[in-house]
Amino acid sequence: MEILSRILRGIHQQSQVSYHPKCGKLGLNHLIFVDDLMLFVKGDTPSVQAITSSLDSFALLSGLHANLEKPNIYMAGIRDNIKQEILTVTVYTEGLFPFRYLGVPLNAGKLNKTMFTDLIAKVQKVLNHWSTYKLSYAGKEKNTHSESWRSILLVRDELLNMGGNGPAAERLLSGCVKKGCIQLSLLYDKFRRKGNPISWGATVWHRAVLPKHSVFLMLVMQQKLATIDKLNHRGISLVNRCVLCKADNETHKHLFFQCIFSTAIWHQVLHWLRMQHRTSKLSKEVHWIAGKKVRKHWKAQWFSSCLGATVYSLWEERNLKIFQGLEHDIDYVVKRIQYFVSIRLLSVNSPSKEGEIIGSLNA
Ligand SMILES: [Zn+2]
Repeated sequence: MEILSRILRGIHQQSQVSYHPKCGKLGLNHLIFVDDLMLFVKGDTPSVQAITSSLDSFALLSGLHANLEKPNIYMAGIRDNIKQEILTVTVYTEGLFPFRYLGVPLNAGKLNKTMFTDLIAKVQKVLNHWSTYKLSYAGKEKNTHSESWRSILLVRDELLNMGGNGPAAERLLSGCVKKGCIQLSLLYDKFRRKGNPISWGATVWHRAVLPKHSVFLMLVMQQKLATIDKLNHRGISLVNRCVLCKADNETHKHLFFQCIFSTAIWHQVLHWLRMQHRTSKLSKEVHWIAGKKVRKHWKAQWFSSCLGATVYSLWEERNLKIFQGLEHDIDYVVKRIQYFVSIRLLSVNSPSKEGEIIGSLNA
């Protein structure tokens, strides 16, 4: 059908072919719905000939021919002699207005109420059918075809729970209306489950942190990594020794940041940011980054970015050693963290401004 559309769009390159007066602004000369094709063109012989011959071109290319038992040509607002001329150059028979397509009446002039009588009767019949169901889950069980009905009932119950009664629920909904329209963001905020705010959210989900680092940092904050102590706890027998320092057991607390290796890296990263700081456990580091001292720092957002990159790189380094037997020295890991942070900051902030800062840090 894409080919047919291209052929039909191409006919207007010929100067004698004009759009239908109501379709010119849209550049529209056809609509395709399932296997129905509707063509629109100005009521003159060259335009009608061009659009019908384009169907022949398509038939030659594809082998698909129009069903000549069905086609009708509908004409309005043109003189009888032109109508006759058009009918002689086409194989179509003239259809008469008004007619129905998919149950909807179509007319050359204004549509009046009587044309919709059948449609209104059909809609009323459907609505009457619905009203025989009680507005309850029991009613829904009979109406097994309507999943959306169940969803509507769930939303209704949720609203009533939140409001306490009908009028209160109505007030709650009206609070989400701005300039006569429901604001989806306000509605979502009313319905979403709200837990207690987490203290580390602002640092972990900071825009300066690479998204994959944010997700990883969240897992670390929730102690969700499969560290060796956790695997032992699940019955997996492994020697519990931190592969980064070989001096202590591997736990979340040790890796971030009691381990000599990880502490050394975090120190170097902070040194890169021109910051002296006594390293503590991860939760305290996050708290420190959110605190006043860092907030006043000349580039506060770099700290969140650095923390995310550091935690991620440490876990990468740990996995590299366990699964591939490879290792990098501290300088290599720090440079990799600096690379991650620089790329992220350049992408979310002004490249020229951040570029100057990166230059001064690396000087
Ligand atoms: Zn260690």
